[in-house]
Formats: sequence, C-alpha cells, structure tokens
Amino acid sequence: MYNRDSYDKAMATLKERRSDATARAAAFHEKMRNELPRVREIEQLMAQSSAKVVQAILNHGNVEEQVERIKAENLALQVELSMLLQDHGAATSDFEPQYTCKICEDTGFANGKPCVCLEQLMREFSCMELSELSAMKPTSFEDLSLEYYSSKADSRTGVAPRAQMRQVIAFCRAYAENFDGHDDSLLLRGPTGVGKTHLSLAIAGVVLSHGYSVVYGPIQQMLHRIEREHFGRSDGNTEDVLIGCDLLILDDVGTEFSSSFYTSALYNIINGRLMAEKPTIISTNLNQKELTERYGEQIASRITGLFTPLVCCGKDVRQQKLKQSLE
Ligand SMILES: [Zn+2]
Repeated sequence: MYNRDSYDKAMATLKERRSDATARAAAFHEKMRNELPRVREIEQLMAQSSAKVVQAILNHGNVEEQVERIKAENLALQVELSMLLQDHGAATSDFEPQYTCKICEDTGFANGKPCVCLEQLMREFSCMELSELSAMKPTSFEDLSLEYYSSKADSRTGVAPRAQMRQVIAFCRAYAENFDGHDDSLLLRGPTGVGKTHLSLAIAGVVLSHGYSVVYGPIQQMLHRIEREHFGRSDGNTEDVLIGCDLLILDDVGTEFSSSFYTSALYNIINGRLMAEKPTIISTNLNQKELTERYGEQIASRITGLFTPLVCCGKDVRQQKLKQSLE
C-alpha cells in the first residue's frame, strides 16, 4: 500500500531509534559504573563465576557443592546490584536498551511480518509527503484573532460574527484536543476568507502533535494526483493514503475543476472513510443546494447528513488585513 520512499524513511527512523536506545543504555551503564565503583566490582565478580565453575571441575573435589556455592554467591551479587541501583533510582533493566517498540525492538519486523510500528511510520511518511505538496502549513489556534469579526449582529441573519466564530473556534479546539481517530466528520462552511482553512489547519497542528497521521491540502491538488496515477501518468497511491490516514482535510471543496472522474474519486474517498469510521474535514463555500447540484445526491447527502456542520461568518479577513497594511 505504501511506496518505496516511505518504506526507506520508516526503516531509517527505526534504525535511528535502535541506535539511540543502545547508546542511551550504554551511556547510562557507564555513568553508573563511574559513579558507583561497587557496580563495576560486582560485575567483575559475576563475570568470574563461570571461570570459577571450570576451576572447580578441574580441581575435582566436590564439584556439585562448589557449583552450588558459586551459584549462591552469584545470586547474592545480583541482589546486591539491584538494591544498589534501586537506592539510586535505577534498575538493572536500565542497562538494557529501551526500545520504542517492545514488539519488534525497533527492527520493523516481528515473526517474519512487518510490525505495526513500521506500518504506522510508513503511513505517517506517506501522509507527510502528500501534505507537503500543498503550500499549506499547520497553524495554531492562538493565531486566530477575533478582532477581525464584527461584534454587531448581522441585519440579515441576526448573528454577530464574533460570537459565532468564538463558538466555532472553541468547538474546533476541543475537537482537536480530544481527537482519537474515530471522531465525527466536520463540514466547515462559509464565504471566502473567514477562517475555514485556518481553523482546519489549526486542528491539523494539534492532531499531528498528538501523533496521528493527517493529510491536508486543496481538493483540486489531491484529485489531480489521483487522476494522474489512475491514468498511469505518475506513480503513487494517493487514494489509499487519503482513505487510510487518521484525519483527512479537504480544503476548498467545490472550487476544483468539475469532471465525472473527480466526482467519483471524491465519492470513493468520502465513502471509504465513512465505512472505515475515519473522520474527514471539508471546507467549502457551497451551501447544501449547491453541493447537491455540483456532486449529486449520493455525495451531498453523505456530507450534509453525516458531517457536523460549522458555519463560519464575517468579512474576508485577508482583505481586512491587506486594507490595514495599506492604511
Ligand atoms: Zn515494532
């Protein structure tokens, strides 16, 4: 399912994890040996026990009795070492590498099969690669300022944009913080420039920081990639990655070029993710009627019926900022 590039990057990450774990354990061992000279002595004594057994055999006499004595000495040394380390807040297991993945010890394979950690890393790298193709970057909620939203109620809707956006931002923040991969899908709706993209990228920032795989980008770019791959004009597995990531953010739905191929690709993505119970965030300028006209009942009913709608409102923030900078 994943390409060669994400496999190579994943294996390189695992190799780094392994060598980090080994180096950390060795450094800690050395530190303890230097700080507690008794640790070194105990280890030296324990290392001599097999030589002592050999000696006992060579000396004849009562071998069994001597072996028992050496075993008891060895056990006493082990107990002493572990108590000594315990007194210093450590354990003998700290001398062993502490691998990130206990299943495969960061080798990427367990029982001859790719480990879950390898698959997770490949998924993350594939998602990252797709998201990096868009010019979009994850943002933060802190950068969202309510000063650009009027506190006066709109004469037509009776809603004050600032109050409305405060609620939407609070909802999105809680959504991002509590994200667990099986959350509701969101439909961010509203005119151009009122913060839909910013909100979805702020969610992406938090969800990514919690270790989930996220793909975000303009819908036009993603569908174009799928089309190129479908007709053999480029390699890749964009559709699989879009369906398989923990969170998919499709920006500017409705602005892409209109074609039956795009519509069926979009249907596959939305439906595939709903079936897998994976959340999708869609931002769009289109209302329900326009969504139906554009994509047909099959897609529109899934989006409007199964996604949680969030309405963004106000005046174009970018234009306001531009105006301010010119004043
Ligand atoms: Zn593993």
